[in-house]
Amino acid sequence: MRSVQPEVFLVARPEIDYGQLAVYLREVGGEKWLEKLDRGDLDDAQNLVEFAGKICYRAWEPGLNPNIVRVRTDQEKYLQNILSQAHGSVLEHVSFSFVLHNISRVATHEIVRHRPGVAISQESLRFVRLADIPFWFPEWAQADAELMKRATALLEQMEEFQRWMAGHFGLDEEGVPFHEKKHKTSFMRRFAPDGVATGLLWTANIRTLRHTIEARTDPGAEEEIRLVFGKIGELARAEAPALFGDYTVTDGAWVPRWRKV
Ligand SMILES: Cc1cc2nc3c(=O)[nH]c(=O)nc-3n(C[C@H](O)[C@H](O)[C@H](O)COP(=O)(O)OP(=O)(O)OC[C@H]3O[C@@H](n4cnc5c(N)ncnc54)[C@H](O)[C@@H]3O)c2cc1C
Repeated sequence: MRSVQPEVFLVARPEIDYGQLAVYLREVGGEKWLEKLDRGDLDDAQNLVEFAGKICYRAWEPGLNPNIVRVRTDQEKYLQNILSQAHGSVLEHVSFSFVLHNISRVATHEIVRHRPGVAISQESLRFVRLADIPFWFPEWAQADAELMKRATALLEQMEEFQRWMAGHFGLDEEGVPFHEKKHKTSFMRRFAPDGVATGLLWTANIRTLRHTIEARTDPGAEEEIRLVFGKIGELARAEAPALFGDYTVTDGAWVPRWRKV
């Protein structure tokens, strides 16, 4: 048994091609908006959401659309207005990709219940030998000596059974075809605990992130997924403060000012 800790790595974020954006904006008379962006630090996630919102009403500057006499120039206020109006579709243009490392099958099974706006690639246990089971114990469990003794003994017994099966099926003998190994390893994983730590690449757009961070840090949610989504919330807020800054975090629960956009 290998004791592990769930971790989250943000591995991909959007990148705007400002040159192409400029070509388009010159076409429609919206260069002034781009000049404004160039003045500050470039936050591609927030800029892309603002761009998506402004393209809807040609709101680059007053007068381009005769119906619009005034435009919001402050990005933070503009994005807050999008959230408060529940104009959430523009948030779908921005996705972040997270590696969720050392998280259990308990957590991954719950994560995959969230369907729109996500992409998932999960480690296949059909190919993995489980002779050294990675496992997360929360701090309160680690502090319980009797529990740890019994839990560790049980996991070691499971590992021993995995090694026995590998020998029994002759998986490491010369010439065993790959499909045979895969067939037997897939059977063997049925004897792994639900708490076995694994990993996945999880990509979600901002609309989905706002919903899932709230749902999965709720006090009623499971403790490991709460921990993971707390980390996702911290990373997302650092990337796009204007789009995640409305959350109040109390005892690990992320509650947004503007819900379900
Ligand atoms: C604390 C907690 C406890 C839970 N307990 C259980 C449990 O005991 N048993 C169990 O089976 N599940 C349980 N779940 C999972 C839960 O039922 C949902 O399946 C999961 O949270 C996915 O969220 P969602 O339904 O909001 O859908 P998501 O896939 O995250 O979709 C986001 C939103 O898009 C809309 N949407 C998505 N798909 C559709 C659709 N097909 N039609 C119409 N609108 C759609 C909905 O407005 C939805 O809220 C629990 C979840 C939480 C957070």
